[in-house]
Amino acid sequence: MHIKELVLDNFKSFGRKTRIPFYEDFTVVTGPNGSGKSNIIDSVLFALGLARTSGIRAEKLTDLIYNPRDAEDEDDFGGEREASVEVILDNSDRKLQRSQVINAAGTEDVGNVDEISIRRRVKQTEDNYYSYYYINGRSVNLSDIQDLLSQAGVTPEGYNVVMQGDVTEIINMTPGARREIIDEIAGVAEFDQKKEAAFEE
Ligand code: ATP
Ligand code: MG
Repeated sequence: MHIKELVLDNFKSFGRKTRIPFYEDFTVVTGPNGSGKSNIIDSVLFALGLARTSGIRAEKLTDLIYNPRDAEDEDDFGGEREASVEVILDNSDRKLQRSQVINAAGTEDVGNVDEISIRRRVKQTEDNYYSYYYINGRSVNLSDIQDLLSQAGVTPEGYNVVMQGDVTEIINMTPGARREIIDEIAGVAEFDQKKEAAFEE
């Protein structure tokens, strides 16, 4: 399973609907400072519910909505503002089974699950703000998304995203602590825990 495409709409510096294709093996994003490269990573963490607001460099959720006053052009906007990010996952290897997607979406009507769409919106009205999550267009809760993704090994505590400071942190770790991370990624940690449990019995 891999990310096939991102669709950013009014998210951070992406004031226009922007589709970003991802390749199966390796995709590089380049551009000058401040052009929005890190905002793309933020958008993935936002949509998949993998980070707190501070982890995506915003004080509050509504800071993630494109703000023309932050940018160059001074487009005016009405009382309601909204940002949306859709992450389209290529699931043609069926890492997530149809039954798992049905379970998470709470309906049989999930369409073709070779492609899974996870979308999040944040909407600001005059006196409040709202956050919505969707799996293949079906309205769900954050926990439904987290449960589904954890079955594919993607978790908020996981090492699916290596942030800038993480690299130095890993370098400065003791060899033992570093080994624990590798065990976790390789899926060995789970068996170590089972082994320990068995010894205790
Ligand atoms: P660097 O190479 O320095 O890491 P980068 O390409 O990663 O740069 P980002 O951090 O992704 O750049 O983008 C920062 C830009 O996004 C800033 O110019 C900031 O003004 C803009 N930005 C952040 N939030 C918003 C928003 N809500 N509306 C409009 N622009 C925003
Ligand atoms: Mg950056």
